[in-house]
Order: sequence, then structure tokens, then C-alpha cells
Amino acid sequence: MPSSHVTPAIVLRVVNYGESDRIVTLFGRDTGRLSALARGARKSQRRFAGGLSLCAVGSAAVRERPGAELGTLVRFDATASHAALGADVARMAHAAYAAELVGKLCAPHQAEPSVFDWMEEFLRLLDADGASAERLRVFELGLLSGLGFGPVLDTCAVCGGGSFAGRDPADVAFRWDPDGGGAVCTACARGGRPLQAAVRAALVRLARTALADATAEALPPDVNRDCREALLEIINHHVSGPLKTVEFIAKVARAAGGQP
Ligand SMILES: [Zn+2]
Repeated sequence: MPSSHVTPAIVLRVVNYGESDRIVTLFGRDTGRLSALARGARKSQRRFAGGLSLCAVGSAAVRERPGAELGTLVRFDATASHAALGADVARMAHAAYAAELVGKLCAPHQAEPSVFDWMEEFLRLLDADGASAERLRVFELGLLSGLGFGPVLDTCAVCGGGSFAGRDPADVAFRWDPDGGGAVCTACARGGRPLQAAVRAALVRLARTALADATAEALPPDVNRDCREALLEIINHHVSGPLKTVEFIAKVARAAGGQP
């Protein structure tokens, strides 16, 4: 028996298929990630109102057969146009990166409503305020912790010691060890690389920052760079193959004289 769902959904990927169809990867709030054939989507806009563009948010009606990898997208009605995303290359780069991360980190057919809400809020703020390196770090941290991959930051991931509470961060020496769960104190560390106190302090702070407050966080460029590299190590630990959008963001940021 085929089953039908109507769910809030974000378009993660669109690939043309044949003369008139598209294959769409969706992140459904109630369904998780799934792929579906949108018949006639290249020719008819009627059943796919507002268009099936990258990071479009809307209501998707999907029909699936048990055991079939590809469902059928019956309708998609965009509810948030996010007009600025397509008009600005920096916004587009951040949106494409967010879509790639969610597509690669989330397991298929596993509903993650809080991760869906996190991405939807990120896209709305990205559209309204523009691309921000700080907000992208907050998004990465929230996404990782929402999926159970969040690194331990404010204490040692092994012994639980080394809290910042009541201490100068510079007094506590740590290493960054994605295999060991995140920040690991030098007494426990078996690998990893040095983690500067300022970088750990920034990661701790960013992990507690709301997406809406993130643009107020002014990260020094070297601290942002180290936070970004540390988080990419965690992300790469959980995805297979290289992330295609990382270099895109870096190129766009360099061209604009900003930070990726
Ligand atoms: Zn320790």
C-alpha cells in the first residue's frame, strides 16, 4: 500500500531528470530526509507553486511505496519565498552549505523536527539579515547538538574536569580531539591538536547563543577561522566524502573581503 504524507518541508537538492521531471531531496519536518520524483516539474509550475528552488520552504505532499527508494512529489506549495537568498551570492553560499550539511548529516526517513525548525529559522534570518560567519558557527553547533553529534566544549570530554566556571580560560590547557568527543584536557589527551583557550571560550559562547542574537557576536577573524576548522573536523567525522559547498563559501567570502 502506498502511503501519503503532507509535511512542512525544505528543498535540499533539485536535479533535472529526463525531459520534464525533477528529482527533489526534501527535508520533511514529519518525514525526515527523502527523495521524490516531481513529474512535469520542469514544464508545469501548477503543482509546484513558488518553484522547487534550493532551500525553498513549503508544504509537500509526498506519496511513497514501501521499499521504494524514490517517492512521488504530488504537490509543493512554497510558504516562504526567501527572495533575497537567490539574489545574493553570499546568502546563497550559506544556504547551499546548510542544505548540504542537513542532507549529509541527517539519516533518511528519520524525522528531526527540532533540526527542521533550527534550519527554517536559520534560512529566515539569512534571508532577512544576510550572511554572517558568526551565525553560521551557531547554526553548525546547534545542528550538531540537535543530531547528537555536539562536541563537549566546556569541560574535558574524557574526565569532565577543566570547567571555565570561576577560572581564567587561559589557565586550562586543552586539545581538540574529534575522535575523543571534542575538547580534551592535556592530562587525558591521547591525540588531537592544541586548542587555544580563546577558541574554546568562543565555541562555548557560540553554543549558547540563539540564532537571532548571532550577528551581535563579533568574532576576531583568527578565532572564527579556528572555530570553523574545529567544527568542520567534527562534521567531516560524520559525513562520507568531501563537502562540496565549503570551498564555495570560502571563495565568496574572500571575494567580498569577509570571513567564511
Ligand atoms: Zn580530562
